[in-house]
Amino acid sequence: MTTTGKGGIGRWRRAAGAAQGLLFLALPFVRLGGESALRFDVPTLTLHAFGAALAMNEFFVLLPATILVTFVFLTVTVAFGRVWCGWSCPQTVLSDLTRLVVPWPGKKKRPGRRAAGFAVTALVSVVFGAATVWYFVPPAEFLGDLAAGRLGPVAAGAWAATAAVLFLDLAFLRGQFCATACPYAKLQGVLYDKGTLVVAYDERRDADCVDCGACVRCCPTGIDIRDGLQMQCIACAECIDACRPIMLKLKRPTDLVGYFYGEPGRPRRLARPAVLALSAGTLLALAATAAAAGSAARNTLDLTAIASAAVAPSRSPDGSARNVFEVSLENRAHRAVAVRLSLALPPGVEGTLRPDAVELEAGEHKRVRLAVTARGGHGKLTATLTATTTGGERPLTRTSPLSLVFPEGP
Ligand code: SF4
Ligand code: SF4
Repeated sequence: MTTTGKGGIGRWRRAAGAAQGLLFLALPFVRLGGESALRFDVPTLTLHAFGAALAMNEFFVLLPATILVTFVFLTVTVAFGRVWCGWSCPQTVLSDLTRLVVPWPGKKKRPGRRAAGFAVTALVSVVFGAATVWYFVPPAEFLGDLAAGRLGPVAAGAWAATAAVLFLDLAFLRGQFCATACPYAKLQGVLYDKGTLVVAYDERRDADCVDCGACVRCCPTGIDIRDGLQMQCIACAECIDACRPIMLKLKRPTDLVGYFYGEPGRPRRLARPAVLALSAGTLLALAATAAAAGSAARNTLDLTAIASAAVAPSRSPDGSARNVFEVSLENRAHRAVAVRLSLALPPGVEGTLRPDAVELEAGEHKRVRLAVTARGGHGKLTATLTATTTGGERPLTRTSPLSLVFPEGP
């Protein structure tokens, strides 16, 4: 079982796959706002995505984004079948890159070909295994540590494990993964309708088939397209390319095996109720994702304040109360900011705070101990701490309530 087609659809499919492979390798090297274009930083639990930095407490953006991806998948599957599997799935893309590892039907056996196939598969596994780690560890840091021989056990272990899994999959499992284990494949049966784009055999022209078996030999999942639509078919179109030259030789129309919307002979109808409903859901999810991302992008300053557990409120001989708070400030913007702290107190109460200004570098998180001295109050009252930035992309203001205690004694 392998792929054979040199020209036809296979050529375009493999070019698209190679472009996607290059994109996967190159994306971690693209830097936007001083960070990888796409990377999850484990120590700070921050997702860097195309210039934006999403902290753990902003992962609410991922909920509409996940719904959006789900809707896109459903819409594309109902309209265009398994176009993802055949043209974009990493399993297919990497299987194409390592096709030297499987026997080549119709070609003379060449000694060393299989060994070369394993070597290529090992190389692809090692390179793509490393690239997977670069989505967590910056590639410059990874490669620098590797060159210096000080790659940490976590990064090295993740790399080795990913490369090993990829090698076993690409060398031995390949299309059988799609046919037996892939959960997306199992979903197809319920998502397809009578107008979904599929690779199919035109049974109306059964008399044109010379039963040469080329379409079966080339199939990466080992099925016979002439048996009808099957769950194992990944719509890779290899069988279309295999049958085409035979039909050309016989001077028959070349689409005995081809792409069809539903059954061969049916008119194409893309604007079907299911497609329209899922497209509407996709647009709604897109709007929700954009709104959530916009909100996260605007909120680049975090402020929290809690009463100090180490220093209890106290009363000075001059009658003023002293309260201490632990204040956390985080600047998730790409520029340094100066933060001014101010206090709003109830009428009749006066107070000062120290410090009243904090400098934050880009991406910096700082904890400061804030001392509030107030007079004119009794018992407990609530004040408001306000943090205002200057020097960033735009001024930002955040507030946090402070519970002030006025003890009776010192
Ligand atoms: S039957 Fe499906 S999986 Fe097999 S070669 Fe044809 S399109 Fe690819
Ligand atoms: S490649 Fe075409 S002619 Fe040959 S067996 Fe398949 S469908 Fe029939």
